[in-house]
Amino acid sequence: MLDPKLIQELINRAKAAYEQAYVPYSHYPVGSAALFSSGKIYSGCNVENASYGLTVCAERNAIFQAIARGERELKAIVIAVPSDVFPSPCGACRQVIREFAVDCPVILMNGQGHLRWTSLKVLLPEAFGPEFL
Ligand SMILES: [Zn+2]
Repeated sequence: MLDPKLIQELINRAKAAYEQAYVPYSHYPVGSAALFSSGKIYSGCNVENASYGLTVCAERNAIFQAIARGERELKAIVIAVPSDVFPSPCGACRQVIREFAVDCPVILMNGQGHLRWTSLKVLLPEAFGPEFL
């Protein structure tokens, strides 16, 4: 069970991250904050590119920063947007989350501050993971 203060910190970090999003093409900023087993939180925003296919999502940005600092076990992730419609991680991000968690809470927040709780197992059932190899 996640400490409510920790959830609030994840939310704050995800919101701060979307303020930094580089989205000159889609104008769809996204922020993410990922809690790892060390207790540390890593955040990221989406970063677009004039060569559209090189765009990286907020979730992967946050997770990759954590991995670069030695983290391996994802405990929870928040994805926040300033718009009304709840965000949802794309297929690529779901698979990247699965690399570092068999299951974990995935908390979605819209611009009104409303939360929608889901989980990796709901978002990516019967997932392929590293233990298959
Ligand atoms: Zn994605």
